[in-house]
Amino acid sequence: MSELQELYQQVILDHNKNPRNFKSLPHAEHKAEGYNPLCGDRVTVYLHLEDGKVKEAAFEGKGCAISTASASMMTEAVKGKSLEEAKALFEKFHDLVTGKTASSGELGKLAVFAGVREFPMRVKCATLAWHTMNAALENRDEPVTTEE
Ligand code: ZN
Repeated sequence: MSELQELYQQVILDHNKNPRNFKSLPHAEHKAEGYNPLCGDRVTVYLHLEDGKVKEAAFEGKGCAISTASASMMTEAVKGKSLEEAKALFEKFHDLVTGKTASSGELGKLAVFAGVREFPMRVKCATLAWHTMNAALENRDEPVTTEE
């Protein structure tokens, strides 16, 4: 097993077992729901902004290990980011897991998700929370689905 694969497994296991920011955020002014019908993953993302930056990010839901770990890491990654930075991070993450780019620059720990690009079904699991976060920023009312 390669180093990245090993790291990938460790990170996914860790975040799936102990998801960070796994709670509702009653004072969140940005919220969206996401659903990945292919796997059955469901996630609700909450964002609380202050001075144009993400002060708190949290999520709730039920899904596979990859979707849970990805949501957990997303909430950590967008904290402290401005709206533009959070969106840019979403784009970068999306490009990485879909194989559009091989560069994982600036993604830090999130780079471990590059491994899912070989499994198209899993790409949806990994990106669900990010699509939902993006929808929350735009305050879209319609639930997000990975099937467009
Ligand atoms: Zn899944």
